Amino acid sequence: MIKNVPTHNDFYKTGRELLDLSWNMVAKLLVNLDEAEYYGIDADEVSEEYWSLAHRQLTTALAITQQGIEFLIKGRICEISPYLLISDSAAKWPSPYEGVAIDFSKFRTIDAQDLIRVHDTFSPVSFETEFVSKFNELRESRNVIMHSISESLDVQVAEVIESLLYMHSSLFPNESWANIRKKSLESSPNTELGSVDYISNEVCRELSIIMNLLSPAKVKQYFKIDKKMRPYLCPNCFYEANHDAGDFDYKLARLTSKEEGCSEVYCPVCDREYGVVRENCSDEGECPGNVISEVYTMCLTCGQE
Ligand SMILES: [Zn+2]
Ligand SMILES: [Zn+2]
Repeated sequence: MIKNVPTHNDFYKTGRELLDLSWNMVAKLLVNLDEAEYYGIDADEVSEEYWSLAHRQLTTALAITQQGIEFLIKGRICEISPYLLISDSAAKWPSPYEGVAIDFSKFRTIDAQDLIRVHDTFSPVSFETEFVSKFNELRESRNVIMHSISESLDVQVAEVIESLLYMHSSLFPNESWANIRKKSLESSPNTELGSVDYISNEVCRELSIIMNLLSPAKVKQYFKIDKKMRPYLCPNCFYEANHDAGDFDYKLARLTSKEEGCSEVYCPVCDREYGVVRENCSDEGECPGNVISEVYTMCLTCGQE
């Protein structure tokens, strides 16, 4: 008998946590650079040096992403049967004759390079070719990172972000990464230190920096918004934000269609739509906005109530 058999949810949870850890490292680097700019440092001037000093953090983030993806794929395999994760022939398994149940962790599990093959053998639906080749690329990069001290691997910040978003959206097409990020900040240890009031500020800030970095097509693919359309405040993110720290002006929401009179905005952080009325802002002289949230009684262009 075997005890402590893992479930697919155990693997999904750990996998997502690792992706979040990787995202956190990269987002911090970007936010710090952005902050420096605010204090008058020319980001373009320091940029190259900054990213070369951040090399180790970027490669580590990439390796952690890879690790996270492995957990998520193990979760997929686990949905079919957790026992498929056991490698070695029966003769090499721990003895079942010791009078106690064998802990699952005592078994050797399959290597990363075999995950896709095992999944595709038993699952009715195989992974897509693009996913497999990206997974293998990432695995090779990780091997270079873990087994050499040279800086031969040139890892760009956008590359880490994009591979994480691609992998996550391929495995969980119905999940919003922005929303997962927010939830993970809500349960981060920092909330015990009082950062809970700033989660909306923090998540909107890092996402607006990252969306700036990505092409419109990628933003559409991963955050479901058209970056080229006019940006609006999300009434809920605005409501939850802390306004003591200065103006909250992160506009990540977009109208859900280009039709005149469109009466909904979508926010990728909340991963939901909010109804709006198309009336001119009460501050008509100063603000050209005509997208008003009735429920939250505010103009989504200037934030005025
Ligand atoms: Zn929102
Ligand atoms: Zn307004």
